[in-house]
Amino acid sequence: DVVVVGSVNADLVVRVARRPAPGETVMGSDLDIFPGGKGANQAVAAARLGAHVALLARTGTDQYGTRLAEGLAGEGVDTGHVLPTEGAGGVALITVDADGDNSIIVSPGANARLSPEDVVGAAPLLEEASVVSLMLEIPLDTVTAAARAARRVLLNASPPRELPAELLSLADPLVVNEHEAAFLLGGASAGRAAAHDPTSDTAGDTTGDTAGDPTGRTAGDPTGDTARDAAGDGDGERGRGAVRDAAGMARDLLALGPRSVVVTLGADGAVVAEKAGAAVTAVPSPAVEAVDTTGAGDAFTGALAWRLARGDGLPEAAAFAARVGAAAVRREGAQSSYPRLEEL
Ligand code: ADP
Repeated sequence: DVVVVGSVNADLVVRVARRPAPGETVMGSDLDIFPGGKGANQAVAAARLGAHVALLARTGTDQYGTRLAEGLAGEGVDTGHVLPTEGAGGVALITVDADGDNSIIVSPGANARLSPEDVVGAAPLLEEASVVSLMLEIPLDTVTAAARAARRVLLNASPPRELPAELLSLADPLVVNEHEAAFLLGGASAGRAAAHDPTSDTAGDTTGDTAGDPTGRTAGDPTGDTARDAAGDGDGERGRGAVRDAAGMARDLLALGPRSVVVTLGADGAVVAEKAGAAVTAVPSPAVEAVDTTGAGDAFTGALAWRLARGDGLPEAAAFAARVGAAAVRREGAQSSYPRLEEL
């Protein structure tokens, strides 16, 4: 039903009291190794829910490649198109400091070698899939080739980069978080978000809150993910403002050419825009105690792909995906935090 074309990484995590300055060495914790990569995460999220999901990807012939592929198969992901590639696979070097902030270096390794020819090689698989789910941790040419071959494309524009118009026009939906949305809108989102609701009594605040500082929610805005706002149904100050800003961004993104748009908002859920001029649907997220938000977006995307493949409308699918995203923040880690259907 779902085919994911994307990345597979080994996440190598070390905890440190503080990060080393240039030229400095600090001692850290024992090394933890977790399966990661946005492609693998999405595929596992969908498989845990019961989806039939195949992954087209490249893993290295290093010490991680076989383990990662076996792990995916163990989760029920069809790994017949996970291609072992001579040399290093994708690795994320992650340090987590005493405040819980992480710094990440990604070495793409074999992910950078997933090619348009690989997509051609898997053409029958892609053509049969109800939904092909794509993200940007693999070469853009490959993403575009996969989008062309697909019946329906879910494009998670993460990590953010400039997108060719053709690729954007194939996305149904384009899925982004607020930072990615701001990036694609070229930093002009603050003015646009405010302009969308000039009569709002809180327009000034909300612009300052998120849109004026696109990094606000995870970096600078201490009110961003509070439990009160996690009520998510528009009760919180931040909840209302964030949803209003995101609705404006979703409309602006729709004008860039995708067939539909989903903007995810952390504790505030998501908004869905399907047609220019039509209302934007706000989808709340259940209020949960957030333990670790790593990989929440990938859980959301994997769940969304599955529900769309099953024939849900976009707002219904997004509402389900928000529940999966919320479940994923209640536990530590990315894949390790993803729920099974019966847990929801
Ligand atoms: P990303 O991980 O890409 O930044 P978000 O932070 O927007 O994406 O999270 C994706 C989805 O996960 C949200 O739409 C929401 O459903 C869920 N989620 C994330 N953080 C929380 C939270 N603190 N409380 C409840 N749900 C959350």
